[in-house]
Amino acid sequence: MMARTPADAHSSTTAVQATNDDATASKLSCVKKGYVKDDFVHFFVRRPVRRSPIINRGYFARWAVLRKLLQQFLEIKDYSSERNLMKKQILSLGAGFDTTYFQLVEEGIAPHQYVELDFKEVTSKKAALIEHHSQLKDKVGDEAYICKERGEVLGEHYKLLPIDLRDINQLDMMMDLAQLDFAECVLIYLDPDSTTSIVRWASKTFSTAIFFSYEQIHPDDAFGEQMMKNLESRGCPLLGIYATPTLNTKEKLFLDQGWQRAVAWDMLRIYNEFIEAEEKRRIERLELFDEFEEWYMMQEHYCVAYAVNDAYSIFSDFGFSKISPSREP
Ligand code: SAH
Repeated sequence: MMARTPADAHSSTTAVQATNDDATASKLSCVKKGYVKDDFVHFFVRRPVRRSPIINRGYFARWAVLRKLLQQFLEIKDYSSERNLMKKQILSLGAGFDTTYFQLVEEGIAPHQYVELDFKEVTSKKAALIEHHSQLKDKVGDEAYICKERGEVLGEHYKLLPIDLRDINQLDMMMDLAQLDFAECVLIYLDPDSTTSIVRWASKTFSTAIFFSYEQIHPDDAFGEQMMKNLESRGCPLLGIYATPTLNTKEKLFLDQGWQRAVAWDMLRIYNEFIEAEEKRRIERLELFDEFEEWYMMQEHYCVAYAVNDAYSIFSDFGFSKISPSREP
């Protein structure tokens, strides 16, 4: 199903992986300034950098929305039977050097299974770092099998596996590992056919699940064109963006592939209406901030979409609608 030649695939692969190093460096910058707490991300950054306030705030917003939805998901209880739905599972497609698992373990709220997938080049490095740092190794458990060469970590509750997401067969092979419920994703770097296949695969495979994605939108206005140029010049064009350039088309992508419910909000709305007012007050004091025009435009070009399959009606309270307006200033 991959249309690309191996050579093409390799060059774009390297560039897309570079976005992971970039994202990780931005997270560390954000952590050092006090926006978010993450005691693990520094293990994954070789050369720390300082980012501008607008980038720091952007990463904070991304982290905060994912965290809030993740918490909602982890708190959902199913009292109705012995169906074992209490055993929550998270699948991260294109997990990069994300440290959420280690944080959840530290907070004592890790799910039953946490599975991370990425290119082998990335999972090998991650496996090596987990092996090397006892603070990380402790979290995946002493008995975990760690193999740098294969790019694999197999712990009781944590799995890290090398996979090219464009190959659905590999995803299916991975499935005998666990039944999974929550996915965060990198669809935007994939071509539209691969994206559609993954969304359909996930909908068919999981009858009780939430699919989460954080991605760019609106490639066609002035800001969007510049954003596209920047990413293209870095060798990682957003192959998926023209197929789903708006909030509506993102929702439609999921609904068309069989998901029961799908919601997409842009980050500006999420920042204004979903992220806790208290948290915003705290982080807005951290740095001098005057790039408001740019901030609004940037946030309008990112969105979070989630899709829900809810065979047992346990997710009816999940999502953006669960805002408490009284907390707004
Ligand atoms: N989810 C992480 C990393 C985002 S960067 C975070 O939020 O920090 C995007 C990641 O997707 C990179 O690590 C890249 O290697 C991975 N990726 C992109 N295309 C992929 C593919 N076809 N198969 C597997 N991983 C892929």
